[in-house]
Amino acid sequence: MNSTQSTLQEKIARLRASFIAQLPKRLEEAQQQLSLLKADPCMNRVAAVELHRTFHSLKGTGYSFGFNELASIAGDAEDYTQQLLDLPDESTPPGWPDQMIGLLQELASQAQILVYTDLRNDHPLQTPFFEMNEGHPDETVKQSQQRLVYICDDELEQVTHLSYQLRCFGYQVEHFTETEDFDRAVVNKRPDAVIMDVRFPQGGTAGTDALAEIQKVTGQQLPAIVLSGRDDFEARLSAVRAGCQSYFTKPAKPLELAAALDEVMSDEPFEPYRILIVDDEPEVAQYHSLILEEAGMLVHQLSRPANVLATLQEFRPDLVLLDVYMPECTGLELSALIRQLPEYLSLPIVYLSSETDRQKQFSAMQVGVEGFITKPVIPEELVAAVALRAERMRSLRSLMVRDSLTGLYNHTTTTELIEAALSQAKRKQESLCMVMLDLDRFKDVNDTYGHVAGDQVLLALSRILRHRLRTNDIVGRYGGEEFAILLKDVTSEVAMKLIDQLREDFSRIRFSSGDKEFNCTFSAGISSFPVHTRAEELRIAADKALYQAKDKGRNQIMLDDEL
Ligand code: GH3
Ligand code: MG
Ligand code: MG
Repeated sequence: MNSTQSTLQEKIARLRASFIAQLPKRLEEAQQQLSLLKADPCMNRVAAVELHRTFHSLKGTGYSFGFNELASIAGDAEDYTQQLLDLPDESTPPGWPDQMIGLLQELASQAQILVYTDLRNDHPLQTPFFEMNEGHPDETVKQSQQRLVYICDDELEQVTHLSYQLRCFGYQVEHFTETEDFDRAVVNKRPDAVIMDVRFPQGGTAGTDALAEIQKVTGQQLPAIVLSGRDDFEARLSAVRAGCQSYFTKPAKPLELAAALDEVMSDEPFEPYRILIVDDEPEVAQYHSLILEEAGMLVHQLSRPANVLATLQEFRPDLVLLDVYMPECTGLELSALIRQLPEYLSLPIVYLSSETDRQKQFSAMQVGVEGFITKPVIPEELVAAVALRAERMRSLRSLMVRDSLTGLYNHTTTTELIEAALSQAKRKQESLCMVMLDLDRFKDVNDTYGHVAGDQVLLALSRILRHRLRTNDIVGRYGGEEFAILLKDVTSEVAMKLIDQLREDFSRIRFSSGDKEFNCTFSAGISSFPVHTRAEELRIAADKALYQAKDKGRNQIMLDDEL
């Protein structure tokens, strides 16, 4: 067990201890409710409802923490109280109130056992009731810049050209002509991906054998792309068997290889899912939140439903996990309330409750809720159910904020993000730069090489912009072949250097259409804050600088300050 897991176990142990410590007080309260119930000849419904809630939550929390005996008695008591509530007024079931007193006594003695055992043990009563096999969340958050790619191929000339082109896209590329050197390098410094040939000396499959070996040694899947001279079934099959995700026949187009590299490397750093848990029981909320956090999610716990609107607005969750039985208002009421707000119509809401009655679950879902997870949860199932729905929410949102061709932010989103970044820069008293960038003579590219080739150019440029700029910079497709970029916390001199380097690298990329090859260039204008203080002024100034650059002959960058 690694250190993360042991701290998780420690945290859970503390939650269990806190639950046990509160048990006597909660049972005493139940005792009082029972006295109220008994004292009233016509059954006191308020007290009965309270009692039902207490038993229900003891059952749910009890199972969650693995106190199954206690939870099972609480479940019986809950059922019995429900029977009381279902009876017509002024009637009582046979055996009342002895049966209820008996159940409470059983609960009390179970509680005593737990308190006693807990005093003797510092560690959890049972073996850890789950272990997550997810990697540490930090490992999923990888820098997207300067990713290392190894190419192994013995055709030196082709490989040199390919490496050169891939470097223009912002990859750090090393190439090898000998399999042994390649193997050694992979073990010494693990790359982010490999591109390799599958060769067949004496009928063997040297390249892929090496890869299989490497993956065995490192124990991890290394994103791999095959670059082969063969295009037959057997060659492709051996690549699949070796765990290669993508297959190219020579000569491969650098642009397509770059796209494949992006795909196998999942280029965006992973943004943790944001989950809001609403539960009136802090221990339970804390427990579920530990499970989700361990899987790399960001969790906010809310115990008072009344604060839900403010929390939704501030925390912006991808999904809400909702308890069904809460004193202030029920989960049903709360989800109906959330659904009445247009901005949260598509927000996934999932109940997390110990309610096992199918009919009740079904009617609870009628208010437009995505799912029902019953307590006690199996941690892996909770993680999977939450991740799946949160991911779907992400994709939906992404369709709304991103441009479909390039995957960059669309015009509206770019404008909004720039406004927000500007306010932030003002607050933090930092500088920032805005860049307007436009492809040169792009109409000619379309006219000469066709629209598909034009799209390739747009894609290549977007890829370069995404990879070469920092993840917190804003890159948007502003119009057809026009891009807006916001660089945070930089002076215009730094911005100038950066964008000019991009310009130079981009101009070196060779595009192809049929048997014709061509290059493409862009021009850009840069403006800065605090020289300009409003978003609209920044844009106009950058635009003006851009058109100066066009006027001066294109393929160059102009600073607004120099005008
Ligand atoms: P300049 O150097 O002055 O910017 O010349 P230009 O030809 O790039 O500018 P112009 O505004 O005349 O033409 C822009 C062209 O961009 C016209 C349009 O067909 C093309 N374009 C816009 N969006 C797309 C797209 O999504 N795909 C393709 N292939 N072309 C596009
Ligand atoms: Mg509750
Ligand atoms: Mg243009």
